[in-house]
Amino acid sequence: MNNLPSLCCRNSQGLRAVARPVRYASTSASTSKPSRSNSRRWLSIIFVGATAAGVGAYIRSQNTSSTTLNPETFTKYSLVSREPVSATSSLFTLRPRKPSDSNYDVYEEAWQTGVWSVMFKQPQLQIGRDYTPLPTTAATSLSVDDENEGCLRFFIRKDPFGEVSRYLHNIDVGADIELRGPKIECAIPKETEEILFIAGGTGIAPALQAGYSLLNRTNAERRPRIHILWANRLKDDCAGGYSDSLKPQPRQGWLSGWSGSPKSHETTRGNAVDVRTEDTSLIVRELEALKSQYPGQVTVDYYLDEENTFIKKEDIRSAIAPASTRDSRKSKLILVSGPEGFISYMAGPKLWAQGQELQGPLKGVIKELDLKEWGVRKL
Ligand SMILES: Cc1cc2nc3c(=O)[nH]c(=O)nc-3n(C[C@H](O)[C@H](O)[C@H](O)COP(=O)(O)OP(=O)(O)OC[C@H]3O[C@@H](n4cnc5c(N)ncnc54)[C@H](O)[C@@H]3O)c2cc1C
Repeated sequence: MNNLPSLCCRNSQGLRAVARPVRYASTSASTSKPSRSNSRRWLSIIFVGATAAGVGAYIRSQNTSSTTLNPETFTKYSLVSREPVSATSSLFTLRPRKPSDSNYDVYEEAWQTGVWSVMFKQPQLQIGRDYTPLPTTAATSLSVDDENEGCLRFFIRKDPFGEVSRYLHNIDVGADIELRGPKIECAIPKETEEILFIAGGTGIAPALQAGYSLLNRTNAERRPRIHILWANRLKDDCAGGYSDSLKPQPRQGWLSGWSGSPKSHETTRGNAVDVRTEDTSLIVRELEALKSQYPGQVTVDYYLDEENTFIKKEDIRSAIAPASTRDSRKSKLILVSGPEGFISYMAGPKLWAQGQELQGPLKGVIKELDLKEWGVRKL
């Protein structure tokens, strides 16, 4: 049970879900001089004082750092490195301050479950924000030592006006960062065979997680698939990304075996673009690594605001067109992750009620597509 005030997930403006600023420990107890003649008053003061002390001790215990990542208390990590990925985002690597073998089990359980996040504490303001650990893939894998030591990596965008992301981009390498979690954002059912992940900006981090969790379940009988549609504002955000829907598709039918010329291939569909740049961004390399590890099971398409290409209905339809024959909503999942406006446009806004975030009714582009056999989840 978590008795700390809930810090989770309300947007203040424009960006992805933003955790609500909350102060952690603020207890005070007033004292007054007891009068011998008024024993009842004296007793009540003792009672109030003891209760306040108990509550204070409890809250302090909740804020005490443990050695294993857990959802109740904060655990100290240190910032090992912060590598720029683009002009506005960086890859953070964090290592637990005190080694604990139990971290491995905590992470493993979360990876097997699906999409998860952890909360970072900003100690000066005593506020927290959620961030999404990246899976370890071949592209930028952690060293064996880092992995053994329970390091976690995060792709974090610097919001020039954002409290926590600015703080994280400014602290020194080597500094302490306190984390709390894991929090399961979306369990991927065991039956899931196919995911369409619609991501905006840093919403790609949960897409990588979903891919990792789903594809890890590959075996001789089972080859689950994920299609990622990733929208960004700038080329720099997804440098070097080549869209799979722009690659020549083998023509279906008798002509295909006959000519063998490039004309015998169909090319484009939808609005995706190739992001032709000299360098390839780290996240694009992560996506490529996932593709090479699971050939034929991953497709990625890129969309760029600066080139006026947006994810439209036809892109979603094309991505799921080859979809399979199964009917269960559990076997086909659409996940949407990104800034608040992006999620609202695609699937309708999430709701905040009775102190918690709710999915809210399905609206937007996905509702209009009326994809009855697909389950939809907003992250
Ligand atoms: C489950 C989950 C996972 C996430 N994973 C990631 C991730 O992997 N990577 C990542 O980069 N992000 C992720 N986020 C988003 C992240 O949690 C933060 O919301 C984000 O970093 C911004 O936080 P901040 O404190 O820097 O900005 P905030 O201080 O919260 O500000 C956000 C924006 O609101 C504006 N604003 C704030 N207050 C006001 C006000 N009073 N009036 C007008 N405007 C205001 C600010 O100018 C800013 O533009 C995730 C969010 C969730 C919910």
